[in-house]
Amino acid sequence: MKELKHLNKYFYKYRYKLLLGLLITIIARIFSLVMPTYVRKTLSTVKESLSSDLPLDSIKGELISYILIIIGSSAMYALFTFLMRQTIINISRYIEFDLKNEVFQQYEKLSINFYKRNRTGDLMNRISEDVGKVRMYAGPAIMYSIQTITLFVCIIPLMLYSSPTLTLYTVIPLPFLSILIYYISKSIHKRTTVVQEFLSELSTFSQETFSGVGVIKAYGIESRINTELEELAIKGKEKSMNLAKIQAWFFPLMLFLIGISTITVIYVGGRLYIAGKIEIGVIAEFIIYVLMLTWPVATVGWVSSIIQQADASQKRINEFLNEVPAIQNTISEHTPINGKIAFNNVSFTYEDTGITALQNISFEIKKGETIAIIGKTGSGKSTILDLIGRMYDVTSGEILIDDKPIQQTNLFDLRNAIGTVPQDAFLFSDSIKNNIKFGKSDATDAEIIDASKKASVHKNIEKFTKKYDTVLGERGITLSGGQKQRVSIARALIKDAKIYLFDDCLSAVDTETEEKILNNLLKTAEKTTTIIVSHRISSAKNADRILILDNGKIVQQGTHNQLIETNGYYKDLYLNQFHEKENH
Ligand code: ADP
Ligand code: MG
Repeated sequence: MKELKHLNKYFYKYRYKLLLGLLITIIARIFSLVMPTYVRKTLSTVKESLSSDLPLDSIKGELISYILIIIGSSAMYALFTFLMRQTIINISRYIEFDLKNEVFQQYEKLSINFYKRNRTGDLMNRISEDVGKVRMYAGPAIMYSIQTITLFVCIIPLMLYSSPTLTLYTVIPLPFLSILIYYISKSIHKRTTVVQEFLSELSTFSQETFSGVGVIKAYGIESRINTELEELAIKGKEKSMNLAKIQAWFFPLMLFLIGISTITVIYVGGRLYIAGKIEIGVIAEFIIYVLMLTWPVATVGWVSSIIQQADASQKRINEFLNEVPAIQNTISEHTPINGKIAFNNVSFTYEDTGITALQNISFEIKKGETIAIIGKTGSGKSTILDLIGRMYDVTSGEILIDDKPIQQTNLFDLRNAIGTVPQDAFLFSDSIKNNIKFGKSDATDAEIIDASKKASVHKNIEKFTKKYDTVLGERGITLSGGQKQRVSIARALIKDAKIYLFDDCLSAVDTETEEKILNNLLKTAEKTTTIIVSHRISSAKNADRILILDNGKIVQQGTHNQLIETNGYYKDLYLNQFHEKENH
């Protein structure tokens, strides 16, 4: 149970509620024990009056008072059981809420490397299913344990008081019941896990089918997908039947054991009564005790298997909670960013693949400069931009932001000062307006339109019937590649950034629009540091300086005019693209 220690801080947080729950459980328990005693008294009174030939009327008042006590105590028992659930199960919901928030906040802190190592499904599972299983420990497991303990503490003295011999015979079968239930519960849990895993497989399959429906139809493979789904469904049916079989054993077995205990009580009790050692009412009292004991005893087995499950789940949660974020903000005070960037002999190797993406890169960009980076795919362009946003830390060398090592800059200030347009424009399944506002949450409509105009996408958006309220993605329309890129540029431009990073984000835009956008960028360029990554000369030629990257190294740098004078990659590219244009 060592993993579950993590929850102790939450139990401490809710300690008063927990104490209240304990108190209520004890009160409920006391009310529940009134009934058997009064059933015995009732029967014994009737028996006595019968054997002493007294008129029934003489005991009428006594019987009525007993019945009222039984009804009253049962009603109070019901009321307090309700309150008990309201208190203890509520605590488990609070803890579930807190734990989910804790896990989510940790997820947000973890860096990109972590997300590459772990699958999305796994992340989702740990925050939902695993937290759910832990909740079973924080709620039901604790509640039933308190209930069972209080029951035993109260009921055993009462039973011993009524008849020690019968107590022995009633209690002996109980451990067997408990162990049996433990194994059945464990088996049920195991099979449930199998069914759940299967269900997530099934939903992944259906989800892929729905989102890839275009491809499926285009290839005409509906019937093949149908057969695959059918096979999957048959597998699932077998797994569910497996679970149903073991579940079916649960209640019959319990009833069987209750039956055996009841018969034992009647047989042994009957002999004791015949021998004159107990009153007749004691037998009835003990039958009720057997019924009262069965469920709590069964829960002992059930609870132990819940705790095991919760511990395993908490272990998986703790694995993520204990993960130290690779990139951390160690600077608490604000560090305003001006926009000067310098790379000193920076090398970078991706941990997971071992690919050395950058080798001994050195360059300096002054505030307000516009730099272009040109190079083949895989030459390390995107990696440079990721390092500037500190998505990773360098393997060797150092990056200076405003002449200070990047690690000594407040991480949030740094990222706030950067407006980035990634290579693969990711837009959320939300309205265009909200997608652009993502860069500045309090942006006015005028600002949104202004940014869209700068990104040359305003006119496109105006053509949609719902204009800026057009919903994108799953629930809405799909934008063309170029439109996506431009919306994502607008999202960056609306953010008053000091540093703009454009990662090959005009690749799907025609050269004319590209020209327009670049001109708009140049207007604000004096105040901001801009890096444009591209493989087109047209994007690069107006930059203050152009870096040519090959295989993680800077092989050439200079202005457009300098570079077309020198033999090399840039000049070749220039001639190529120049001719292409001529031939059009
Ligand atoms: P470019 O943007 O110039 O196309 P990248 O910076 O994306 O190049 O990639 C440089 C090299 O690093 C490539 O060899 C690529 O395979 C590798 N690489 C890029 N991103 C990752 C990543 N997230 N994990 C591991 N290797 C990567
Ligand atoms: Mg790239």
